[in-house]
Amino acid sequence: ALTNQENLESEVRSYPRRFPIAIKRAQGALVEDTNGQSYLDCLSGAGALPLGHNHPEVVKEIIDHIRADLPFQTLDVTTPVKDAFIREVMAFLPQSFAANACIQFCGPSGSDAVEAALKLAKQVTGRSNIISFHGAYHGMTNGSLALMGNLNAKTRRSGLMPDVHFFPYPYDLRCKFGLGGEAGERASIRYIESVLHDQESGIVRPAAIILEPIQGEGGVIAASAYWLRELRRITSELGILLIFDEIQCGIGRSGRNFAFEYAGIDPDILIMSKAVGGGLPLSCLVFKKEFDTWNPGEHAGTFRGNQLAMVAGAKTLQIIGRDELAANANRMGERLSAQLRALQDVHPCIAEIRGKGLMLGIEIVCPGQHDVLGHPLANPELASQIQRAALKNGLIIEKGGRHGAVLRFLPPLNITAEQIDFAGQAFGRALAACTK
Ligand code: PMP
Repeated sequence: ALTNQENLESEVRSYPRRFPIAIKRAQGALVEDTNGQSYLDCLSGAGALPLGHNHPEVVKEIIDHIRADLPFQTLDVTTPVKDAFIREVMAFLPQSFAANACIQFCGPSGSDAVEAALKLAKQVTGRSNIISFHGAYHGMTNGSLALMGNLNAKTRRSGLMPDVHFFPYPYDLRCKFGLGGEAGERASIRYIESVLHDQESGIVRPAAIILEPIQGEGGVIAASAYWLRELRRITSELGILLIFDEIQCGIGRSGRNFAFEYAGIDPDILIMSKAVGGGLPLSCLVFKKEFDTWNPGEHAGTFRGNQLAMVAGAKTLQIIGRDELAANANRMGERLSAQLRALQDVHPCIAEIRGKGLMLGIEIVCPGQHDVLGHPLANPELASQIQRAALKNGLIIEKGGRHGAVLRFLPPLNITAEQIDFAGQAFGRALAACTK
């Protein structure tokens, strides 16, 4: 049977090629490889499949629309599908934000929407520099890549966009202020505020501060409500736009519709992709109307606002709301966390279990060893071994983090308790196999 090593696609350079399988069929949280082996997919298209693969109601909706002669592409001509999608997105947002906001369709990838957000922020403020954070991931196009807080083998960033400055993101285990916890967050806010007020800091007042309320690729690190509120206060006081990238943590994954809701504040610009297209390629911005400075056609693109993705996305949002899947994400996330914490008790290589809802990360370290800063020494090799062992045990999980040592769970939001228990047990078996 075809495997990832043998087929032509294994030569495609855009993939890290970590999984030595080829997937033939997929339904819900389960995928089947070309050898007939089944796996629980706790990656779900890096969060792009909030209902898992081929949810029957989403599939029916797409087929019904095609049978009814849905136009695939209408560019700027409006359609009932676009209207229905806008209604669902706006209803999914907190009313405090949606009531005075407008939507902008961007290209098929999340990076497209990040680029649009950068352009808008520059246009609104007349300034060009941007603040991003250590560990940030915003995409791979020139502008979005310039915001990447992680320089590694994937990232050759020189000369992309010179005006990005990076601040530390709160990260208890590796706190840049040597404090951790609330003290670390207070120090972080004091540092950010003092730099932005300091004419001599070398950092010109930025157009925007962009961040993921929960860093995903950076290792599943959730910012606290306090820290987000303080950023909101500082940016409002200084006339800096606050951009939240919820491409990964949005649409129910965090246990709330959007992760920023935990802080009870609104961004100026919100970026969405992945789950918002119900598994099909789509991205969009929602931003406060007061910042709508676009001229008609000023930010155009052929494949913005794909109709089929909007059909899938609108139905997916409806189902997430109807079936209260954000709450399910919380319950199932708690259930999995409890099982992972039990494993942590007997496996000292687990330094931390983090995240919110069904966005969980497990940081793997070398027990008792520290880096030059006194932080636990990351163990990316062991993390890779555990990931491979998990696959052998029928579990697909992602690996990420600043040192490549965080194992990540991003299962579909409608995952069942039985499937969560399978994930916990398979992960336990993988850990045991790699640490004996
Ligand atoms: N922002 C975040 C938070 C992401 O997780 C990602 C993708 N992992 C992106 C932006 C980029 O999206 P895309 O890969 O669709 O360009």
